[in-house]
Formats: sequence, structure tokens, C-alpha cells
Amino acid sequence: MDITLLIPLILGWLAGLFINYASDVLPRMRRFSEPVCVHCGTKATWADYLLLRSCRSCDEKRTLRTWIVQILTPASFIYFWLFPSKALGIPLGMIVLVYFAVITVIDLEHRLILHPTSLFGAVLGLIVGTSIHSRIDDKGILLGMGMSLLGGVFGFGVMFLLYQLGTLVARFRARKMKAAGQQEDDEEALGGGDVYLAGVLGLMLGWSFIVSALAWGVILGGVVSFLFLLALVIRRRYSSEALLTFIPYGPFFIIAAALFLFQP
Ligand SMILES: [Zn+2]
Repeated sequence: MDITLLIPLILGWLAGLFINYASDVLPRMRRFSEPVCVHCGTKATWADYLLLRSCRSCDEKRTLRTWIVQILTPASFIYFWLFPSKALGIPLGMIVLVYFAVITVIDLEHRLILHPTSLFGAVLGLIVGTSIHSRIDDKGILLGMGMSLLGGVFGFGVMFLLYQLGTLVARFRARKMKAAGQQEDDEEALGGGDVYLAGVLGLMLGWSFIVSALAWGVILGGVVSFLFLLALVIRRRYSSEALLTFIPYGPFFIIAAALFLFQP
């Protein structure tokens, strides 16, 4: 084994610890605070937390996600060390990877894209987009930044319009449910956080790629939800409610963007 592979292995392990920490703490505290047990909320010591020990208060083991992240992150760091992204290079690629992982885990677990992470993403997105467009297209910093901003505005704008459309549909549905004497719910197909996420991805990908990335995200999301519905039908657990099951588009947009960004 090549000894230099220890570098992405160790960096990946540390990045995994950070992804787990951010995903545990941010949705609950909205800031980087002391680590807590996700089961009982008791504060954990840094040593216990970072060594992945069980909670001393409720004795619950760390979540399955913790271990999945702790294995997948070093594995992907080693992969991108060997086959670096042409657009991002190794250091920026690793930062983007960690950012995507945090957003994806929080979105899957809480159906939430937090504003602080979107704000951080906007800064990261502008840096990534500018560097990609000024380096690869060789057009200078200012033009690269322009391309990045244009992509951000486009991504945000398109999703904002779709979100408004979704709100209209939701309002119509709520009125129908009220008329039918049913309890209202707050189900929305496209969360407001997805709008900010699309803006961030637009900044990263720039004008030239955000259009295709969004399209791919919607197609991927559609295919997966179709398969999900099909599984429900086959298992005869289909009901009219299932049709309105929330589709977390965020992770699909991230997958689509990652396919563009991480090409070797
Ligand atoms: Zn506990």
C-alpha cells in the first residue's frame, strides 16, 4: 500500500467526525455548541464524543449514521485523492465534499436546509464558481465571478418560482381538505431551503452547468419517487396520501451537482 494514502485516510476520518458533529449539533442548537447525545440530549464530553463512545447518561450507542459517515468519508477522500476532480482540485474538492455531506445528512434526517449552512454555502459557492470559471475557461477573475453570480441568480430564481407555484398548489389543497372536513397538514413538496440550496449550487456550477444540474436533480428525484410509489403499490400499501409524500429534492440536486463537479 502506498504510504501517502494515510493522508486522505486520516483527513477523511477527521472530516467524518466534523460531518457527524455538525449534523448532530446544528439542527438542534443552530450553532456549533458542545456535543450532546442525540438520544437523551445530555451533554457529552469532547473526548467521549470524538472517540464515538456510547452515552454515559442513557447508555445508547452512537447512531448508525455516525458509523456510515465515519466509513464513507475516508473512503471517498481516498478515492478523490487518487482521482481528483478536474474542476475543483484536491483541497477545494474535500471542502465541497464535507459541505455536501453535512447538508445531505441534515436534510435526510430533519427535512431541513438550515440558513447558516446556506449562508456558508453561498461564500463557498462563489469561491468555487469563480475559481472554476476563471481557471478552466481562462477568462480572468472578474468574468469568472460574473458567471458564478449569474448561475446563483438563475438557480435561486428558477427554484423560487417553482416554490411559489408549490405554495399555490398547497393552498388549493388545504382549502379542499378543509371543505372535506379533514385536518390540514403542512406538507410541501418543495421546501424553502431547496431554493437557497439551488442558489448555492448555481454559484458553484455557474451559468453554464446549473441548468442541466437542476434538470438532472428533478429527473433523479422524480424517478426515485416513482420507484418508491411503485413499491407502495406492489406492497398494497398505496393510499392517496402516499402521492403527497414529501420528496426531499435537496439530496438529488446535490447528487446532480456532484456529478458535474467531481469529474476526474
Ligand atoms: Zn444519551
